[in-house]
Amino acid sequence: MWIGISLGISLAISLFVPFPYSLPIIMAVFILLSFYMRKRALRRMGIPGTTGMFGSSSLSYYCMTCGTKHNQAACPKCGSKMKRVGS
Ligand SMILES: [Zn+2]
Repeated sequence: MWIGISLGISLAISLFVPFPYSLPIIMAVFILLSFYMRKRALRRMGIPGTTGMFGSSSLSYYCMTCGTKHNQAACPKCGSKMKRVGS
């Protein structure tokens, strides 16, 4: 998906900047974008990964329907899959 964004950005740059000068700018934008996307992807993956490794004992899930504390996908009391994280 971000390839489309960077393609659009490089197209926009090549429209405003003549070709030989637009090339390093496009490359810089590509590098910055890939850095940004990697950081965002790492952050998205890192949150459940860190809670799974470090937070499983200290973090608890509470059912949003009846408030039962449980660590399952669905509430054992009412079967609701809606839950919130509490400590
Ligand atoms: Zn419940």
